[in-house]
Amino acid sequence: MSVSPDIPRMKRDLADLVALCTENPPGRETEAASYVAARLSEAGLDAVIDEYEPGRANVEARLSNGPGPTLVFNTHMDVVPAGEGWSSDPFVLREADGRLYGRGTCDCKGPLAAMLEAVRMLAAERSAWSGTLLAVFVGDEEVGSKGARHFAAKRPPIDFAVVGEPTSNTVYSCHKGSLRPIVRVHGVPAHSGTPHLGENAILRAGELLGLIAREHEQSVRRRTHPLVGEASLTVTRISGGHADNVLPGACEMLLDRRLVPGENEAEVKAEIAAFLARAQSELGVRAEIIGFKPTTGGATETASDRPIVRQSVAAAAANGIASPGPFGFQGACDLVHFRDAGAEGIVIGPGAALYGAQGRRIRPRRRIRRCELDLPRHRTPDAVGMTGWCSCCAGLR
Ligand SMILES: [Zn+2]
Repeated sequence: MSVSPDIPRMKRDLADLVALCTENPPGRETEAASYVAARLSEAGLDAVIDEYEPGRANVEARLSNGPGPTLVFNTHMDVVPAGEGWSSDPFVLREADGRLYGRGTCDCKGPLAAMLEAVRMLAAERSAWSGTLLAVFVGDEEVGSKGARHFAAKRPPIDFAVVGEPTSNTVYSCHKGSLRPIVRVHGVPAHSGTPHLGENAILRAGELLGLIAREHEQSVRRRTHPLVGEASLTVTRISGGHADNVLPGACEMLLDRRLVPGENEAEVKAEIAAFLARAQSELGVRAEIIGFKPTTGGATETASDRPIVRQSVAAAAANGIASPGPFGFQGACDLVHFRDAGAEGIVIGPGAALYGAQGRRIRPRRRIRRCELDLPRHRTPDAVGMTGWCSCCAGLR
């Protein structure tokens, strides 16, 4: 493309987006959605805000430019809560030592600012490409992916998806999924002075913990994928008891099951239920799944030999990324929902996930100097190519 990114404008966009608090929970993406929709409308797109719940919103914008494939630019507007320990106001973008600081600069308002600029460039040079460009910026990716699920449920006709997340501008063609069952372990309450009259649910949970560790080692982690590695099963929260002198009658634990591409959420749920049944038969531990915490969703992949993966890797390499991938993302992200809607896709964006997880810093200034996306005129899947990005990132979930 002959047009170039407007770096000062991108920084202004990023500063404006950082200033709009979209901490999730609770989310509150509507203000950011209005801002983004206004920028997309200015660029000549037909932009609409889809408020799928009060205070929760997606932005959908379309740029039709003749025959060809439909490509989606997607990232999310919500951010994880800022927390403590910032050296400056997390909602005021600050530039120092070649870095930009602020809540969400990495994950994912930096990628969002980059995509906005890429959309402007494509809108300004329509003779360079043919097809339909969708900009779909969603809410709630950090908790339950309500925004992406809502969009995908409409079964939009889409061919390709480019999902913005902090990957240091390398290409991720797959990611893990997550499933979080809440398990209640049952006991029989009694006075702690006469424990033989009851059944201590916390001690029972301790026995179950041993089985969980064994299940992970002997079964779950043996399910592997060449790019994301091993599946896993562990426990991340536990609570039980209600009085100092009462034998607890119940104990609840939160399991964290990470899925690899090829695993099915429904099948894994059934496996966990069967595991708990085995715990009862082997140890007499009475435990049941009483619910599931919301997660971003399941695992997915686009095969490494698919055109969008190959083109994206080639574009990253052509723009100076020494090891462009494709890699596998250890966290979960919204690509799975666009895959479910029928698109092939990849994840790419500026900023390192590690930095994002720490929630403090974003990529060097030089990286913001390139933000360009090429959509050649062909209609084939090979028509999608990317070169360079800008902005910064967020955290693993
Ligand atoms: Zn993100």
